[in-house]
Amino acid sequence: MAGLPDFVRKAERGILPYNGSLSRWIVHVILKFIMTERKEGPILKEKSRGDLTMDKTNVILHERITIGISACTMGSPVRYNAKGWDLTAGLGREKSDFKWVPVCPETMSGLGVPRDPIHLSGGTGKEVWSGLAIIKNRGGQDVTEDVKFGTLSCLETLERAKATAFIYMDGSPTCGVYRTSLKKQKRGNPPGIFGTLLLDREYFLIPASDLQSPIRWWDWRRRLLAFHWFRSLPLESKNSLYEAWYKLKFLCQELDEPWAREMGRRLADLGKQVTAEDIAAIRGEILEVLRRPSTTAKITQMLWKNYSFYRKAKGKTVDGINSPDFRRNVTTIAKELTLMERTAFEEGVFFASSPVLYREKRRMPKPVLPTTESPAEEGAEEDQSPEEQA
Ligand code: SF4
Repeated sequence: MAGLPDFVRKAERGILPYNGSLSRWIVHVILKFIMTERKEGPILKEKSRGDLTMDKTNVILHERITIGISACTMGSPVRYNAKGWDLTAGLGREKSDFKWVPVCPETMSGLGVPRDPIHLSGGTGKEVWSGLAIIKNRGGQDVTEDVKFGTLSCLETLERAKATAFIYMDGSPTCGVYRTSLKKQKRGNPPGIFGTLLLDREYFLIPASDLQSPIRWWDWRRRLLAFHWFRSLPLESKNSLYEAWYKLKFLCQELDEPWAREMGRRLADLGKQVTAEDIAAIRGEILEVLRRPSTTAKITQMLWKNYSFYRKAKGKTVDGINSPDFRRNVTTIAKELTLMERTAFEEGVFFASSPVLYREKRRMPKPVLPTTESPAEEGAEEDQSPEEQA
């Protein structure tokens, strides 16, 4: 058998799974390799070369992310009719994981509460900024300059607060992003005047209505954490890009599988020298994908996949996590997802669907130090007189 590769000799001796047909087993190994390459992309290739050691745990953020929010959706009665709703109330204790910056561009315009409702006239919010459209109130008065002033003041506030994300009130001609009309009241075409600035500045934009759905909020929250981490991650080399991709690729595959496969191939084909422009372009594309919502069906499938991985890795089960076929409501699914996040964090198993988690520093487990005798105990014998030792 001299001259045969080591794995073939092992197979012959029964150390590797070989049951009589060596050629069949070799075909199986080759096929498995090809499948894995297709599935995992360049990362495994790099790993097998020994170039990289991937950290297979979740990224833990300790800083609170700052989120701007349309003030009327956080309970401030600042709408034109002096009303507001607190859509963040349902977040419960999770609300304190973030720093909130409520702003109201219309109030900051000096239009007051209550006020005449306003609307975009002659175009979108974007066209207001380019001078092709204006903003009027119900009485037909042109309030464009006032609203522009209030909007820029709010943007400055968000920038000063270093907000990553903004939760916007859709339907408003000011804060609306994809809709600027409410209940058949036409108030112009989207985006709104403030919505235009939020899109231009590439904020991570969350519709306020999604705060009321536990699973949609879970989806926004996990992508926001990943977005925030990846946006500010120093990426100076190809390897640092690969390491970051290893953390994010499963989530990206869930969000847009064909794109993620293509990105895997592009990363594999990167030359030895990667320019800052290449990295910036790749980073921009990944951030763009992280902005896209997933679906309940995909989230549930991925939860089960991750849970199966956990069971295999730890040889344990977690009470309360159900298979995709088990019928339950979205609130229960959101609870299962949070449970899986907690378990992954506590047991150091990678929960790839939610690769970046937030934990307050003081809530982190204390590092376990190696147990040694205390210095007092160690020195006690030396300090004793020879008579006492005897
Ligand atoms: S939608 Fe925006 S501008 Fe309108 S009341 Fe709410 S925060 Fe103010």
